[in-house]
Amino acid sequence: MLRSHTCGELNESNIGEKVSLCGWVQNHRDLGAMCFIDLRDRHGITQLSFNELSASSLLEVSKNVGREYVLRATGKVIERSSKNEQISTGGIEIQVEDLEVLNQSSTPPFTIEDETDGGDELRMKYRYLDLRRPKLQKNMFLRHRTSQAIRNFLSKENFLEIETPYLIKSTPEGARDFVVPSRMNTDQFYALPQSPQTFKQLLMVSGFDKYFQIVRCFRDEDLRADRQPEFTQIDCEMSFVQQKDICQTFELLAKAVFKETINIDLPAFETMTYEEAINLYGNDKPDTRFEMQIKHLDKFAKGHGFQVFDGAEKVLGIVAKGASNYTRKKLDALSNFVKRPQIGAKGLVYCKYNEDGSFKSSIDKFFDAQVWQNLAENCDAHAGDLILILSGTENQVLKQMSELRLEMGRQLNLIDNKIFKPLWVTDFPLLEWDEENQRFHAMHHPFTSPKTEDFDKLSSQPKQVKANAYDMVINGVEVGGGSIRIHDRATQEKMLSLLGFSDKEAKEQFGFLMDAFEYGAPPHGGIALGFDRLCSLLAGEDNIRDVIAFPKNNQGRDLMIDAPSEIDPYQKRELGLIN
Ligand code: ASP
Repeated sequence: MLRSHTCGELNESNIGEKVSLCGWVQNHRDLGAMCFIDLRDRHGITQLSFNELSASSLLEVSKNVGREYVLRATGKVIERSSKNEQISTGGIEIQVEDLEVLNQSSTPPFTIEDETDGGDELRMKYRYLDLRRPKLQKNMFLRHRTSQAIRNFLSKENFLEIETPYLIKSTPEGARDFVVPSRMNTDQFYALPQSPQTFKQLLMVSGFDKYFQIVRCFRDEDLRADRQPEFTQIDCEMSFVQQKDICQTFELLAKAVFKETINIDLPAFETMTYEEAINLYGNDKPDTRFEMQIKHLDKFAKGHGFQVFDGAEKVLGIVAKGASNYTRKKLDALSNFVKRPQIGAKGLVYCKYNEDGSFKSSIDKFFDAQVWQNLAENCDAHAGDLILILSGTENQVLKQMSELRLEMGRQLNLIDNKIFKPLWVTDFPLLEWDEENQRFHAMHHPFTSPKTEDFDKLSSQPKQVKANAYDMVINGVEVGGGSIRIHDRATQEKMLSLLGFSDKEAKEQFGFLMDAFEYGAPPHGGIALGFDRLCSLLAGEDNIRDVIAFPKNNQGRDLMIDAPSEIDPYQKRELGLIN
């Protein structure tokens, strides 16, 4: 080993020891007769000191190193005269006796510090330097510990880690596939898995009864802060279980992971039905760290001559406690917030329920104090509160209200980043109607079982059928989801036909699975948790990029290796992509 210790290891208890450290130059202070270098590795920073006692050649070398040079320093641990209480190595320094420059470094394009001066693009281009920053090093370490905790927990619970293939068959259901041409089978394509769904079900048919895999999945979707074209799932499946068994197991997994990685005791998971989540929070992954539930105001807001409300399918409100003092400027900003194209509301109606009991609203012409009084009473608003109202078609206004609620939560500092509120969202509809294409989609995926009690509605009232599916939500983040699966051919055929597959298409695409169901398929179910999302929650990061070593940007590009890129015409010809 070139080093005896890491740069984060030494403290006053090592004083007098002779040590060798290796690392990168974080900082270099040349004071003439003395010189100090902060040497950094992923474990910490240790100060190297050179002074009149050092050989003059050594002092000379130390003066000529630059940022990010790689050094090996050997010397004695001594007590520091001016201590740095902020870091564990702050009480000592190394009186250097020998210094070796292991490698030089060009001046880095941005500072290697948490508060760096590099923009996003530049840092992605030089990701290997970005990854030297303490914050990202910490995140990678956390990610490692998280996967260790998951593996330990699942192994203890008797799950087997089994790999499934990356080159599989493309299917039209779900998101878009990345497809892969190959030389041996021109005109035919593999697809990269969006998830190992069918394989893990087949493993249940094979009798493995508890499977898991921390596995890369690929989806050619539009990208957002919490999406990457390739991402990692903690994918699991169990046989002979019901929904409650899976929820129990994975609640325990989440608790173990939060405890082991960030020493947080997660509270017991709440359970909320999909319908409750939508009605109370406007979306199916509610952030329940704060209340401010949505109020359904049709009864109180319609019929007073305000056409916008009267003609709307739904009128919804929220009550921002203690916010009646919102200024005109803040209210205008809120109105602009809901009108942004991403949210798409036409306007915002507000009513200040003043401390003195009077009302001041943006629609005073239509609503008198009596109307507001009645509305306020029915939505639990009190003097000092601000009532915010949106109207429109049900689906849209619920989404808009959900955004406004979160924004108000942020503005009023109601969202405590130190607490975690986990819940299960259950009882999802099995199917989703696609108005544009006049067809059903599976809300979860086509292998999810309907609730037993809804089986007979499959033909007569498919929209009413609930799925045996569940999502794990923490602080408004959908950490994962799963379901009890269909495990017999007839139901799977029925489901595929509801989704618009002809018998032939169903057979071509999922025949292998339905065939397997005929050979003693056990009842089974499972779940997949988004590993990147989970890590970003644990790390307190908003963007999953910050917990992925080499992520892609919002255009799906890797700026460092410059991918995707053109390929050689020869290669294209060989793959049968051109003649
Ligand atoms: N395969 C599903 C998904 O990727 C999860 C599951 O049902 O287990 O969302």
